[in-house]
Amino acid sequence: MPDSAPRFETAAIRTQAPRSAAREHAVPLFLTSSFVFDDAEQARALFAEEISGAVYSRYSNPNTDEFVQKLCLLEGGQDGIATASGMAAVYASMAALVTSGDHIVASRALFGSTHQILTRLMPRWGVSHTYVDTGDMSAWDAALRPETRLLFVETPSNPGLDLVDLGYLGALATARGIPLIVDNCFTTPYLQRPIAFGASLVVHSATKWMDGQGRVLGGAIVGDATLVAEARFFARHTGPALSPFNAWVLSKSLETLAVRMDRHCSNALAVAQRFEGHTALEQVRYPFLASHPQHALARRQMAQGGGIVVLVLRGGYDRCRRFIDALQLCSHSPNLGDTRTIVTHPTSTTHSKLTEAERQAVGIVPGLVRISVGLEHLDDIIGDIEQALAASS
Ligand SMILES: *Cc1c(COP(=O)(O)O)cnc(C)c1O
Repeated sequence: MPDSAPRFETAAIRTQAPRSAAREHAVPLFLTSSFVFDDAEQARALFAEEISGAVYSRYSNPNTDEFVQKLCLLEGGQDGIATASGMAAVYASMAALVTSGDHIVASRALFGSTHQILTRLMPRWGVSHTYVDTGDMSAWDAALRPETRLLFVETPSNPGLDLVDLGYLGALATARGIPLIVDNCFTTPYLQRPIAFGASLVVHSATKWMDGQGRVLGGAIVGDATLVAEARFFARHTGPALSPFNAWVLSKSLETLAVRMDRHCSNALAVAQRFEGHTALEQVRYPFLASHPQHALARRQMAQGGGIVVLVLRGGYDRCRRFIDALQLCSHSPNLGDTRTIVTHPTSTTHSKLTEAERQAVGIVPGLVRISVGLEHLDDIIGDIEQALAASS
């Protein structure tokens, strides 16, 4: 970043929609579906895209613009669009770039709905895919075909916490001229910036750590201006617009992203260290534990280990069921990235639509529970997990 560019925390707080005549300090909420034109000539020029400016909130709105502008600064992207959810961002980023006959190469360990898009929806429109196991980088070269139009990865993956080597893949994508899209939901730009490794686009579920307080859905696509223009055309005409209210919440939330992520990460690392080797557990997975198979890679491409810890309980689903039902503080919910610690059992909930073989291929065993470590007092989080493990035996 050049010296003149604002630093992360400052950009997150001081990027702001232009002040109105009311001279407000915090940004107001622009609940308006459309905008008025000064004169007929301005309307013509706006629709001809000769000048830029707000027209209609499906295209843009001061609140969504502010959120996107901030995110572009934080991710190092040239341009971006905001979407109604993370899945709208994932879908629009792919659908805007592919056409019938194209092929997508993706990491096998993907968010459940992203997997459904690739396996159930894209084939309807003649778009095929190949999955690559994240640990084996040479398999990426082998999977590429002349008709491969994009690479799509998630790192660390949800919920297995498998990593993809962004440096390797960014260089491969650049050399072959194929856009690399990275779902950066689990890290946020505070911990990992895929564009610096050669990614063309970053997609986000802002619902998670960006909101960070479990209130609103939202998503975004940021990155290369030419590809974002394709995504903007797609979104403008298909309508997955982020609501101004959600954009207002999300932009405000980004102001505290750095301090929240620092605490999520330090709490998560402490939970992982505390329970590694516990007799009730087969395994504890966390990217910044030395026992993680890709620990060195995690240190290279992530600033900290993130807020998710995976516990694999001895005794499979029955043990997990007793563990979850014994929790007194932690919430049992499918969400993650909240101030509240949330425990999820992927096999029976978020990843239940996958086949047993598909789950096994990405390490989602019946004993696996995902813990989104929150911001409660660390001793209370550890105490609750400890007592629930004891009660589940
Ligand atoms: C939650 C999630 C999504 C989907 O985001 P929504 O906002 O729920 O649509 C996509 N990718 C990852 C990695 C996620 O965790």
